[in-house]
Amino acid sequence: MDIPLLERVFRIPGRSTRAVIDLDAIGGNVAAAKKIVGPSVGVMAVVKANAYGHGATAVAREAVAAGADQLGVATVDEGVQLRNAGLKAPILVLGPVDDSEIDLAVGRSIELPVASIEFAAAVAEAAEQIGVSSPVPLHLKIDTGMRRFGVEPEGALAVAQFVRNRPELRLRGVFTHFARADEADERPTREQSDLLDAALHQLSAAGIVPEVVHAANSAGMLHSERFHRGAVRIGIALYGLRPGPDMPIAPGMRPAMTIVSRLRRITNLAQGDAVSYGGTYRAAREERVGLVPIGYADGYRRAFSNTGWMNAGGAACRVRGRVSMDQTVIALPGEAGHIEVGDPVVVAGAWPDASVPSFDDLAEWAGTINYEIATGVSSRVPRVYVRKAAVVAVEDLFGHRVLEVDRTSNA
Ligand SMILES: *Cc1c(COP(=O)(O)O)cnc(C)c1O
Repeated sequence: MDIPLLERVFRIPGRSTRAVIDLDAIGGNVAAAKKIVGPSVGVMAVVKANAYGHGATAVAREAVAAGADQLGVATVDEGVQLRNAGLKAPILVLGPVDDSEIDLAVGRSIELPVASIEFAAAVAEAAEQIGVSSPVPLHLKIDTGMRRFGVEPEGALAVAQFVRNRPELRLRGVFTHFARADEADERPTREQSDLLDAALHQLSAAGIVPEVVHAANSAGMLHSERFHRGAVRIGIALYGLRPGPDMPIAPGMRPAMTIVSRLRRITNLAQGDAVSYGGTYRAAREERVGLVPIGYADGYRRAFSNTGWMNAGGAACRVRGRVSMDQTVIALPGEAGHIEVGDPVVVAGAWPDASVPSFDDLAEWAGTINYEIATGVSSRVPRVYVRKAAVVAVEDLFGHRVLEVDRTSNA
């Protein structure tokens, strides 16, 4: 993201606050992941939670075009959304599924995780009733230490055997999820990996070999080749964000999202004037402040009150007073630069230098992780998609619109 592109983004009519998504970054991050894992390992693009706030359908399309083999979602609904948008790639639900969703998933060819004989039986029954033409692909989820979703390693064989013995079902995959792969110490992740191996051994002794084994999230992929297995499931790295403070993003990967806005009012405060709800900021001296139409309902968190900063007119401008639901006030540079109402504000995200806060910075201000910042960008914020420095599509509350330029640049 840079200034000329920012100008193009603002030629699109609409509210001042927008999230600009660089599709080239998404595609480049998939390509970088493929390079890391090599040609024999699959890449699953994890696009749950509206592609970590980046827009599920646009990101999924881009990731598949760049060579992702499969899409990962957290819920059946998210998978159906992708099918409705015309995506044909294999889709796997990663999280637990309600029995009442099985028909929908099976009917839309969405692959399901299985962690109990009861659930596998329910899928088999649904498949039988629907009369599917080929066995339903299931991925056996083994809990190797996350203690969240999955069957315990000792129970894995029984579930796998059940799946094998039902003609309506097919054991497409076996997977686990790492709890601590973003940490510098690799031991806890190795222990989980060893437990997965032990379970796989039991399966193979019983003559059961899944088509694909997958374990690594972004951190697991970046950590070590030993965790790559048959496929990696990358979420945060797909968006060019690091999985944790101890883990830099890989070379060739870069962030895809930038949040921008425009100044909607400029006010001069007199000494002692208070700003926003609760008057938590009072001007110590005369001060110029600007109004930015972004608030916590957009995902710009209330925790940034009097703490965060954004870039306006090339300068770092601190948040003054409380961030409210829809609006935030920032300090404006006194003398430096000529700032007017309507000028762009770069709130956070992908920028070539540190003059704009990163999602890591925002996470730090709020005491959270970049994942929560990205997924927190709400549906009210229009997503403006750019490719090769041109605006190609917009997704807002009115729907998804492909712009003229898309047809030419895609030709
Ligand atoms: C969300 C998720 C991922 C992706 O994790 P990242 O840390 O974003 O790469 C992978 N696997 C499972 C099971 C997940 O739920």
